[in-house]
Amino acid sequence: MASGSSAEGEAVSGAQLIAASLKAQSIEYMFGIVGIPVTEIAIAAQAVGIKYVGMRNEQATRSMSCSVRSRFFTCPWWDGKCNHELLAVRTSIYGRPGSCYIDIPGDFVNLQVNKSSVKYVECCLPPPVSTAEHSAVCKAVAIIAHSKQPLLIIGKGAAYSRAENNIKKLVDLCGLPFLPTPMAKGVVPDNHPNCVAAARSTALQHADVIILLGARLNWILHFGLPPRFRQDVKVIQIDICAEELGNNVRPAAILLGDINTVTKQLLEEFSERPLEYPSNSEWWKRLREKIMNNEERSKGLALQKSLPMNYYTVFHHIRELIPKDCILVSEGANTMDIGRTMLPNYYPRQRLDAGTFGTMGVGLAFAIAAAMVAKDQTPEKRVICIEGDSAFGFSGMEVETICRYNLPILIIVVNNNGIYTGLDADAWNEMLKFGDPATCVPPVSLLPNSHYEEIMSAFGGKGYFVKTPEELQNALKASVADRQTPSLINVMIDPQSERKKQEFPWLTRSNL
Ligand code: ADP
Repeated sequence: MASGSSAEGEAVSGAQLIAASLKAQSIEYMFGIVGIPVTEIAIAAQAVGIKYVGMRNEQATRSMSCSVRSRFFTCPWWDGKCNHELLAVRTSIYGRPGSCYIDIPGDFVNLQVNKSSVKYVECCLPPPVSTAEHSAVCKAVAIIAHSKQPLLIIGKGAAYSRAENNIKKLVDLCGLPFLPTPMAKGVVPDNHPNCVAAARSTALQHADVIILLGARLNWILHFGLPPRFRQDVKVIQIDICAEELGNNVRPAAILLGDINTVTKQLLEEFSERPLEYPSNSEWWKRLREKIMNNEERSKGLALQKSLPMNYYTVFHHIRELIPKDCILVSEGANTMDIGRTMLPNYYPRQRLDAGTFGTMGVGLAFAIAAAMVAKDQTPEKRVICIEGDSAFGFSGMEVETICRYNLPILIIVVNNNGIYTGLDADAWNEMLKFGDPATCVPPVSLLPNSHYEEIMSAFGGKGYFVKTPEELQNALKASVADRQTPSLINVMIDPQSERKKQEFPWLTRSNL
């Protein structure tokens, strides 16, 4: 808030006012692309101790918001004013605004006001921690107790709520099978014996009771509808947001409240009326059998010796050689989908991917945001960004940003020469004989054997071009060991490599 002009006395500019206001709101990082009039704001922000990261692409800049704000470090409460040139982020104070886009008229930046007339106003309140109604908790407990085929679905809300300890207690106490959504992976570690991710379709299709912990029944969960779910499935929905309740499926019980708090309430109820879902039930047998079959199939593909490599072989080696506590960023089509199943998460809030809307071009931005915060708060933590070759192309120039700030991110490009699938160099050259590439090259094809690693070496990082498992292992070992230098491993795979056959291909099916 400011009044008066600065004809006399110490003057402060509009840009300085903005920077000081952000600082007063504990903003720590700002991501942006400068030009008139935002350069002044970025300079003013640096002057008050806010770290400014200059990005190359507006789309990537915007992705920072999702990375640092809602999914990763801070709270999901704030929906800031949106524009797209500067993004201010704070990470440390849970329950305060995580980020906002700054949308300010150019004239304001150059405004001069008298310093003595400026007051800063704290405009944010800490979020309430809400509990569910006791009667709803009792109803949910009764439904779970009568269930023959229960399933706990853990969503991003559980990660935001930092409910990992209580959810793990609930899983252990009641012996419930659980399934994480992609970015809830790690809330309970993926290697927990009750994780049924490898039997996802079976679990969703046959569960009679679903406890939905902070996940929406959107397209990723097939809207909670048949044939993916049972017609008579009873959903117990736990969510903090009233307008999310009952979307697509009418819940059998509604627990409106913060997940950590509601999980504690459930634990209290179960401590009075203990429930241990039998580990020798038909349901568990069926799930375990499916898990074993699926894991065997993935293992078979992973251990194939033929060249070029397939996705499963590549992920197998990545899984073996990356640190368990790294922050994993991933985007692409097959690369992200197969990576979700092949790369386990052991800790909460360590996975960032294209998320609900499947937005491409976010990966490098997420990695930069994560690496900036890791550098300050957990310097031992590595950020590993696994990209499809098509996804990498969206924001590839952010490699320059990574090198400029010397962020030791490891980018792995899983390169199949295309979007979904591509052509090898021979097929490509044959294709060109048919005429103008614009009329005959398949729209999903990208240039074969592109040397994306040279983008990294062009800016001073380390680039590796690998074609065999041995080369991949060596490149992974070298880049994981080097904690100082950004690197990019370009992994050539079979351009026709595909996912295992899906029972419910959903959006990946095509008439082509
Ligand atoms: P996913 O992709 O994991 O399914 P979504 O983003 O679709 O996750 O849904 C997350 C849900 O979690 C949203 O409906 C949101 O309202 C809810 N949520 C967020 N934070 C909390 C919290 N602290 N407690 C309870 N629910 C939460």
